[in-house]
Amino acid sequence: MQLIEPGMRVGVLGGGQLGMFFSLAARRLGYQVAVWDPDAGAPGLRVADLPIAAPFSDSEALGRFAESVAAVTYEWENIPASLVEILEQQRPVKPSGKVLRLLQDRLDQKSFLAARGFPVAPFRPVQSADDLLAAGEIGFPSLCKTATAGYDGKGQWRLSRAQDVPALQEQLRRDQPAGRRWILEEWVPFHKELSVLVVRGGDGNRLAYPPVENLHDAGILRVTRVPVPLESSLAEKTMTLAGSVVDALEGVGVFCVEMFLLADGRLVINEVAPRPHNSGHYTLDACPVSQFEQQVRALCGLPLGEVRLLCPAVMVNILGEEVHRLASGAGLQTLMQTPGATLHLYGKRVTRPGRKMGHVTLLAEDPKEAWTRFEKLWRVLNPDRPLPSVPTP
Ligand code: AMP
Repeated sequence: MQLIEPGMRVGVLGGGQLGMFFSLAARRLGYQVAVWDPDAGAPGLRVADLPIAAPFSDSEALGRFAESVAAVTYEWENIPASLVEILEQQRPVKPSGKVLRLLQDRLDQKSFLAARGFPVAPFRPVQSADDLLAAGEIGFPSLCKTATAGYDGKGQWRLSRAQDVPALQEQLRRDQPAGRRWILEEWVPFHKELSVLVVRGGDGNRLAYPPVENLHDAGILRVTRVPVPLESSLAEKTMTLAGSVVDALEGVGVFCVEMFLLADGRLVINEVAPRPHNSGHYTLDACPVSQFEQQVRALCGLPLGEVRLLCPAVMVNILGEEVHRLASGAGLQTLMQTPGATLHLYGKRVTRPGRKMGHVTLLAEDPKEAWTRFEKLWRVLNPDRPLPSVPTP
C-alpha cells in the first residue's frame, strides 16, 4: 500500500463534525486537508487548507478535489457511492467504494452479514406497501426502516401490532417515491446497546477499541459510557465479532459495529458504519490515539495506533437548543469548573431540534465518578427532563 507522508494533502468528503475532527487530526500530524461539502456553513470547511463548498454533483469541484489530494476518505455512508467510485479511479479511497455501496444500503448490508453467518435480527425486504404484509411473519413489535439514506432514527416506523400495518402501508404508498426499498425487521428486546470501533489497515492488521454502551433518545445517540460493566469474556466477544465483520468486508479504515446485547448474553448486530462514529468521540480525550487519527493512519498507510482506554469516560451529545444553556452564562461557568470535563463545540451556525451541536466528555478515575459528573451536567443541559437511565448489569 502506498505510504502517504505528512506534508501531503488528504481529502475528506463531508465536512460535518466527523470530517472536521478527521481534518484536525490530519493537520496535527502535519498533513494538509481538502474538505468537500455542499453546505458552505459545514464545520469541516472552517479547518480545511482547501475548503470546497459545492454540490457533490459539481464536475469542476470533482476535478479540483481529485487533483489536489493524494488519498480520499469520507465522513459518512450517505456520500454518493458513484462519486467515490469515480474518485477511486484516480486516487486511493478508503474504505473502498465497494464497501461503501454495500454498507449504505441496509438490505444489502444485512443480507451480507446474514449470508456469512453473523447474528442479525430476522428481516424481510419490502419493495412495495403490499410487502408489509410480511410483518405478520416477522411478528410484533417490528421495525420498518428505509433501506437507504436513513440516519438518527429518521425513516423508521415501529409496528406494535397487526392493526398498525394498514396505516403504514397507506403512508408508504402516499409519500414515498417509486423504486424506494425498505427493510422490515424484528424488534430486538435488548438489554444494552453496545458498539465497537475497529480500525483495519491495508495490510490486514486490525485493532478494536473496547466496547462502549450507548443510550439513545428518539433514535439519536444521547450518551456513551466506557468501560461497560461486562464480564471480560463478553467484552472480548464483542471485539472479536466486530473485528470479524470488518475482516469479512476486507475493509480498510475505521468502522463502527453497533450491536444489541440480549439478557442471555447473545449479541445481535444492528448496523455497521464505514467511518468513525459518534459513540467513539470519547477517544479524542480518553485514548492515546483517537478514532480520527486512526482514520488518517489507515488512509495514509501508517502503523495503527494504540486503542487503550486511559480512564473511564462518559460522552454526552449537546443537541439543538441545549447548546445555548451550555455554551454561555451560568451553564458555561458550571461546565468550565467541572473536573474532567472537555467541551467540543462544532461551530454550527444554525440550531435545529435534535441537531448535534457539540459534545462533552467527562473523564474520571472511576466509572461511577464519571457518571456522577455527567448527572450534574445533565441538570444544566436539561433542568426539566429526567436523566437517561443506564440499566444495571
Ligand atoms: P439505526 O438507525 O438502525 O441505528 O436505529 C437507531 C436506533 O433504533 C438503534 O440504536 C436502536 O435504539 C433502535 N433500533 C433499531 N433497530 C432496532 C431493532 N431491530 N430492535 C430494537 N431497537 C432497534
